[in-house]
Amino acid sequence: MNPAIAHDRAALTQALKKQAMELGFTACGVAKANAVAALHANALSHWIGNGRHAGMDYMARHRDKRLDPRLLMEGCRSIVCVAMNYYPAERLGSTQLQFAYYAYGKDYHELMRTKLNELLAYAQGLAPAHGRAFCDTAPVLERYWAQQAGIGWAGRNTQLILPKGGSYFFLGELFLDIELDYDTPMLSRCGTCRACIDACPMQAITAAGLDANRCLSYLTIENKGSIPPKAACRMGNRIYGCDECQKACPWNRFAQPTAIRELQPSEAFLRMTPGNWAQLTESTYRTLFRQSAVKRAKYQGLMRNIAACRKGKGE
Ligand code: SF4
Ligand code: SF4
Repeated sequence: MNPAIAHDRAALTQALKKQAMELGFTACGVAKANAVAALHANALSHWIGNGRHAGMDYMARHRDKRLDPRLLMEGCRSIVCVAMNYYPAERLGSTQLQFAYYAYGKDYHELMRTKLNELLAYAQGLAPAHGRAFCDTAPVLERYWAQQAGIGWAGRNTQLILPKGGSYFFLGELFLDIELDYDTPMLSRCGTCRACIDACPMQAITAAGLDANRCLSYLTIENKGSIPPKAACRMGNRIYGCDECQKACPWNRFAQPTAIRELQPSEAFLRMTPGNWAQLTESTYRTLFRQSAVKRAKYQGLMRNIAACRKGKGE
């Protein structure tokens, strides 16, 4: 413990934010742990009630904890939100089969968890604190909290947008049982823009939020069933995820390639041709995606996507 700053909230908060940057995060903000605002809680209820979460049943579970972080970690007072840039420096060419950028490198869950736990250890070196680190691993409304922590806003495409960085970021949270200085929530800067809505090949972005049933990202990653014929026709070259609503977003003109080594694509991945993908064996799949988030779709899921993509193009 560092007695000089253990009881100085401002100094402690600044030290934590500085350490977050040193660990490789691009942004760090802090929100007070409270119940989620009624407007957002009601929107979530409607979204789930209307079945827009598709087969993501976990979204409907643990609703109480999702709507109040103090039920997820007893004594939680502060939510430290961080964002890590994953925008790849080298990208697949337009004639190649496409993967969402976030899936180019190693699985981010482990990387984020490790760095968040390092941040927790650092906090505990400064002040008597208990905490828990989360990255897509618990019922946490991560974009809501990131907006409350002032690091960006949830755009119409549902992604968190950083004003000077765009939306190619992984998000993570550190729940702490100590009081910190809290940031001001960021207001939306989408204005009258609707570029993401117009760019979506599936008309999945609606006034009531994202309809996962239509979203290519859901259909090619989380979906356990077949790819509907209409979606297959609109897949184009996208065989794992879809970034169209992010590529169209004008704020992504600020995106800078990530310097994080673990998030860089391998040479073998960047060289893959449509013919290579069509003949992908399970053993090559394992080599290409060792420690990658693509494992989520499994070999059979990726082959299902490749077959649907080819069928959609009449091959
Ligand atoms: S990920 Fe693709 S399909 Fe899904 S909302 Fe964005 S543009 Fe539409
Ligand atoms: S494309 Fe426009 S409307 Fe969509 S998230 Fe970006 S700024 Fe907002």
